[in-house]
Amino acid sequence: MHGTPPPPCIYVVSKKCDVVNWGLQRMAVPLVDLKAQYQTIKPAVLAAIERVLDGMSLYLGPEQLTFEREFAQYCESLDSVSVSNGTDALALALRACEIGPGDEIITVANTFIATVEAIAMVGATPVFVDIDPDTYTMDWREIERVITPKTRAIMPVHLFGHPADMDPILEIARKHGLRVIEDASQAHGATYKGRPIGGIGDIGCFSLYCSKTLGAYGEAGVCVTNDPDLAERMRVVRDHGSRVRYEHEVMGANWRMDEIQAAVLRIKLPHLDHWNETRREHAASYTEKLADVVASTPETESWAQHAFYVYVIEVPNRDRVRNLLNERGILTGVHYPIPLHLQPACQKYGFKAGPLPVTEAAAERILSLPMYAELTNEQIQQVCDALVDVLTPTPTH
Ligand SMILES: *Cc1c(COP(=O)(O)O)cnc(C)c1O
Repeated sequence: MHGTPPPPCIYVVSKKCDVVNWGLQRMAVPLVDLKAQYQTIKPAVLAAIERVLDGMSLYLGPEQLTFEREFAQYCESLDSVSVSNGTDALALALRACEIGPGDEIITVANTFIATVEAIAMVGATPVFVDIDPDTYTMDWREIERVITPKTRAIMPVHLFGHPADMDPILEIARKHGLRVIEDASQAHGATYKGRPIGGIGDIGCFSLYCSKTLGAYGEAGVCVTNDPDLAERMRVVRDHGSRVRYEHEVMGANWRMDEIQAAVLRIKLPHLDHWNETRREHAASYTEKLADVVASTPETESWAQHAFYVYVIEVPNRDRVRNLLNERGILTGVHYPIPLHLQPACQKYGFKAGPLPVTEAAAERILSLPMYAELTNEQIQQVCDALVDVLTPTPTH
């Protein structure tokens, strides 16, 4: 979970919460607890790492080849290409579709900066559309208004674990001859009308960053496709534009996944469906306890299976609520506080505030609660109790 403090791998406990607010010294609830997951798979992970080091095949070796096959199968897709991280996965997909300077890509502004960094990396230009207020994902009704002769692709983001509404997006893309590249970095294992996301558009790009629902123990990413030509082009660009050593047909990059990450991911992948199921149970539990407490709880469309990468509520006075929760040992996130069109990094594109009202309004109110499979019922209760406490007006005498 990028961009907002506290960082995902660290327990941050406000000094105040130790004794003052929690006389019984209850433990803080972190936003994500990577150690808790590791404890459940530790022997298998260590054995896998040892296997790689014993073989000393460190790149493009057997683990990675097998992971590519297993992940493609998981996504019910023809093929997958493992890469160095999620940002490179998106850039690699754009390169494979021969998208570059002068081209426009339609995407959303309420996403992690990497979505747009990848567009900038290949020299293309991002064009933003607003989002659906219920799912926070791309509002397809807005797409045709921003299509120009320069438009080459649509890049929906399956945000927070909820799929974007792919059918109308694919239909618009077909009508206008555009590519569809899914940013699937937050929705490993989520389904759209029964199909796993990632393999629905031309290419699906996944980050395998440590805090994602499927996370490596270092940098990693993967691109999924049903098009053998695109897969082949991605393999060439990923490895220095080369099929045969020291023969370079195109200007490529070093965007390879390392073998240790592939081995770790192969241990984790068989657990993913169970972890997602557990996340959905936690989400249902939060929603049951919070429906009457907060302004909004997450919705799941009838055609979607949510993966709950993050559980996002809306509250008024979000930053104040966040600070008060922090004082009570509840660590939260905001995904994301500043929409990308308003980021200094995007200044050169000349975007203004105003044209994305749903995106801009959501950014003020959204709050991500602790969410990971190993979260306990007691921790969920602790989070909900704290929210009730913080959001209930203090009686005046
Ligand atoms: C995490 C993430 C990325 C980037 O992934 P990295 O592996 O950190 O490069 C891209 N898009 C979205 C929506 C993400 O959440």
